[in-house]
Amino acid sequence: MQDLTDIHNYNANNTLLAGRNIVITGAGDGIGRAAALRFAQHGATVILLGKTVDKLAAVYDEIEAAGHPQPVMVELDLHTANNAEFEALNREIIDNLGGLHGLLNNAGILGEMKPLSQYDAETFDQVIKVNLTSCFNLTQALIPALESTENASIVFTSSSVGRKSRAYWGAYAVSKFAIEGLMQTWADELSDTCNIRVNSLNPGATQTNMRKQAFPGETPHNNPAPEAIMNSYLFLMGNDSIGVNGQQLNAQKK
Ligand code: NAP
Repeated sequence: MQDLTDIHNYNANNTLLAGRNIVITGAGDGIGRAAALRFAQHGATVILLGKTVDKLAAVYDEIEAAGHPQPVMVELDLHTANNAEFEALNREIIDNLGGLHGLLNNAGILGEMKPLSQYDAETFDQVIKVNLTSCFNLTQALIPALESTENASIVFTSSSVGRKSRAYWGAYAVSKFAIEGLMQTWADELSDTCNIRVNSLNPGATQTNMRKQAFPGETPHNNPAPEAIMNSYLFLMGNDSIGVNGQQLNAQKK
């Protein structure tokens, strides 16, 4: 098996994801956009889930223009989406695509950078809903589609503050710690009943809108672009990670 501290150097072959159907949340921007484009480039049919239809359409068009497998667009706001919508997506994936091989829970929001004593309660709820509860709801609804294929892979997106928290990261850090708990529980439960593997991935500091919001004074190009951190994402979505389960992984060298 690959050394898991070295997956940022993983070298994917061009057809790694051929024939695989993969849902990516927050696929219209930042890391999710880069993952959607790269998965499609490696042969996957990508299901682009997000809340801003113009951004999803731009990714859709880019994939189509490049001649990669035709993607699917799913407009959903993870703050307000309900279980009926998630279950309908599960049914459509089974009926129209024959099943699901990968789920990248990537969408997320930062919330406020403030001491907990001043943190707005409504924002706290919103961050927990988008970064945690919706990941639980969506993943739970998609388990039948994931179980209907061989060796499916679920990835939850973590953060360094989901492993060691820091002052002022508020609900965001709490949501990422909880994502690790969700990942570990699911990994352990599914290892008893099926071949679905479940892991978490910390992208590390990456040049995106969220990073700009968290570190407004930082020079953006000091961090890698999302396109530069995709090796670990490819590793986790392809068959070379079969047997890797319940792991907390990093997309960049620590
Ligand atoms: P980003 O550029 O802000 O992108 C976030 C994505 O999530 C966007 O596509 C956004 O869609 C989507 N999203 C937000 N709220 C949503 C909602 N209610 N429903 C559906 N989609 C929603 O951030 P990013 O840096 O790429 O972050 C991606 C993931 O990596 C997040 O989970 C983040 O916590 C994690 N992460 C990032 C870094 C970093 O340095 N960038 C470090 C550690 C962890 P819209 O554009 O339509 O709003």
